[in-house]
Amino acid sequence: MSHSFSKEYEAARDSICNGAFPADKSVDDLIKKLKKLLASDGFDDASSDALELLRKEIMTFSLSRVVLGTSSGEAAKILGMAGAYDTAKKFSGNAVLVQRASALKLLRHSYFISKTGAKSLWVISVPKGYTDWPSLELKPLASDETRLKDNLGKVREYFSSSQKKHMHEGAQFALAWVQKTLIVLANAGKDKGESMTLVKRWFKTKGTSDTDLTSIVSELTAGFKKVQGVLNGNRLIFTDNPPDRGTADETNTEAFVWSGGWKDSLKVVYIEKGFFARGANVLSGRNNWARIIIHELTHSELDTKDYPRDNSYGWQGINPMDPKFNGNKAITNAENWAYFAADCANALSDSERKTALKTP
Ligand SMILES: [Zn+2]
Repeated sequence: MSHSFSKEYEAARDSICNGAFPADKSVDDLIKKLKKLLASDGFDDASSDALELLRKEIMTFSLSRVVLGTSSGEAAKILGMAGAYDTAKKFSGNAVLVQRASALKLLRHSYFISKTGAKSLWVISVPKGYTDWPSLELKPLASDETRLKDNLGKVREYFSSSQKKHMHEGAQFALAWVQKTLIVLANAGKDKGESMTLVKRWFKTKGTSDTDLTSIVSELTAGFKKVQGVLNGNRLIFTDNPPDRGTADETNTEAFVWSGGWKDSLKVVYIEKGFFARGANVLSGRNNWARIIIHELTHSELDTKDYPRDNSYGWQGINPMDPKFNGNKAITNAENWAYFAADCANALSDSERKTALKTP
């Protein structure tokens, strides 16, 4: 049984903070730094250099790293750091050792993406050869040194460096859109009507009254401020969901967030293969990435829905005058929030807007 990234993070945090690591000066210093990094509400950007130090400590160059995406040297380093060997260099595996090793493995593939003048993002890029989170992938191998080594030696990652860049660009774009959206919302009812026109275009359903519109503007303002807080907060985490790998969910999904009992305690958006697909949706490139990110953050932060289920996306038409939204339901649909933000940021071409606003 798999779990969310937040649970994986908690497991790693518990192992790093409470685990017994070998008494070694350099390991000790590194663990101290990792403890600071792993704050209770997510990675602390003030200690992001701990990730680079960890990689420096365990990564070694080898031909197999380049050609096969494996590194036995790295696997041995992780096992050593996790305390797999006694003074006589004899291996002793157990469940707690595996927890320490998986925590190090997870962090070895965690990245702080930051650029001057831009908000930062955390990207988790669990090795391609895994079909679950490191703690679950490694759990059954506790007493098997060879298999542990094989598994820890898988270093080729799920996300390429350009994909990491694209996710960061998408988040920057999303933040810029949200800022522009908040300006439009502040002007709604105050300018000559341009701002309210935008609000009505995406949220005025049949029967929406002026009073309803006023409360819609307040709901949008409060909601977009919350989303802005996350995009601004240096705590946002992007990862794929390893258990989806090789399934249709991975291919057909752009991104998702967990809800209900699985809801992440951290700020996590799961980015799947569809996110990077070209020409697969109404918008493309950075505009599509920003749309997806805003869409998902309104789910996680504001509990928006995909409403109506299976007929709620831009490519299907989300004109609020469509009877499916009767009763002020457009405001409950994540995609309407995302397209409204795109429109406020002037990011929609006439034909893209027309597609999204088509009615049956
Ligand atoms: Zn959705």
